Amino acid sequence: MNDIAHYINGSALSGDSSRTQPVYDPATGETEKNVVLGSAADVDTAVAAAKAAWPAWSKTPALRRARVLDRFKSILWERADELAGILASEHGKTHEDALGEVTRGLEVVEFATSAPSFLKGDFSENVGTGVDSHNIRQSLGVCVGITPFNFPAMVPMWMFPVSLACGNTFILKPSERVPSASLKMAEWLTEAGLPDGVFNVVQGDKEAVDALLNHRDVKAISFVGSTPIAKYIYTTGTSNGKRVQALGGAKNHAIIMPDADLDMAANALMGAAYGSAGERCMAISVAVPVTDAVADALIEKLIPKIEALRIGPTGDSDSDMGPLVTAQHRDRVSGYIDAGEAEGAKVVIDGRGFKQDKQGFENGYYLGGTLLDNVTADMSVWKDEIFGPVLAVVRRNSYQEALDLVHSHDFANGTAIFTRDGDTARAFSQDVEVGMIGINVPIPVPMAFHSFGGWKASIFGDHSMHGMEGVRFYTRIKTTTTRWPDGQRSDAEFVMPTLG
Ligand code: NAD
Repeated sequence: MNDIAHYINGSALSGDSSRTQPVYDPATGETEKNVVLGSAADVDTAVAAAKAAWPAWSKTPALRRARVLDRFKSILWERADELAGILASEHGKTHEDALGEVTRGLEVVEFATSAPSFLKGDFSENVGTGVDSHNIRQSLGVCVGITPFNFPAMVPMWMFPVSLACGNTFILKPSERVPSASLKMAEWLTEAGLPDGVFNVVQGDKEAVDALLNHRDVKAISFVGSTPIAKYIYTTGTSNGKRVQALGGAKNHAIIMPDADLDMAANALMGAAYGSAGERCMAISVAVPVTDAVADALIEKLIPKIEALRIGPTGDSDSDMGPLVTAQHRDRVSGYIDAGEAEGAKVVIDGRGFKQDKQGFENGYYLGGTLLDNVTADMSVWKDEIFGPVLAVVRRNSYQEALDLVHSHDFANGTAIFTRDGDTARAFSQDVEVGMIGINVPIPVPMAFHSFGGWKASIFGDHSMHGMEGVRFYTRIKTTTTRWPDGQRSDAEFVMPTLG
């Protein structure tokens, strides 16, 4: 059995812990690897390496830091296929989808290469007579990223490229379910010329996370994962005096207005609900058609599309959707369909009976696409984040009723509206209390030079990720006010200068 371990101070390290956990290939249900679950001693080793590397890295000119990231970006372009293969084999997403993930991560690296520009300070001349004032942004020190299973490369790349570009050193604690991509990125950063200790990986679970949360030399923590853990990370980290940004769970609604292009909406919902088997924080898991007539017409369009979904192994180029990440998660999602049915939802298409008959993949963690109609706001399938290929239809009779439904949910990560009416779309984007909005766009993930983050229970902390919000999170501002005493401004002297 192959053990996946840490990457500290520029090389792989097996570490101090004897605890391990299996890593599965969700497509086959088999395991050939274990991940080492790091101890507090492993965290100490990584923090010491990152702390030692910080003074030199933070003083390296931003232009040179950016050049290292630029070389890393070139490696990512050239070897995107290799990284996508690693992602797909541990997560279960299709290879094409994994390539999309690498591209979205790479775009943040691209943004980070503009560090000399975004780190430029402000200067005010004559804030008082003969007094000037300027601001600079300086790095924080050792920063930490704790990431979820569903984007093993992209979510870490929401964090570390900007953090490194700003002059920090970094420790990544990836999800123990998908540990390998982090090591590949660490190797490639070293190959790109990143000095040892600037980027480190500690594998692990709660033990490693707690050691990072309590380590006095850790200055900032970026977290992405479920809401209960996000709350815990935020509360513990901030009470230990650290800067924390913690992005949590989601339940994203798409409102379909009576004037919407229904073919466009149905196609968009297919990708947004079932792409990556629904394991995306920006997946649309609730469709809110306005009027019963729209609901009936939409469902009629969705049924044949869901029945035609090609569910297969990650490597098959003809798969639309792969397996779920673990057998336990597949059973949890299936349990939600049971609960929805018991609570009175109509199971229009039932993914529970899906059997994968491709040879060698019969034991993978597959589940069919599921459509639930007549879902109401008191059902667990509406209240909870399911994180699987399940689309719930909640019928509403007016725009206002649909908006109220969106507002009544605790999560506020993303939302979309499908309409041809500019006035409705404009009112929606202005009034809705959600962080990321799509107008006829189902998964409105902001580009790298904008920032990613939800509202309400989908985020804890003041800064969302990447773009200028990332720069603000990973730097602290310093303001210098300067006055000079009267200097020597006399004319040139031609006699031999003497001191005193
Ligand atoms: P998770 O919360 O189980 O795990 C996230 C990280 O927290 C992992 O690194 C894990 O090791 C660590 N962790 C888990 N339990 C812990 C504990 N008790 N104490 C300390 N650390 C712990 O999330 P997941 O299942 O890996 O990922 C799916 C979740 O992530 C979903 O809720 C999804 O919405 C969310 N997510 C949110 C965004 C966003 O941008 N808002 C993006 C991607 C995923």
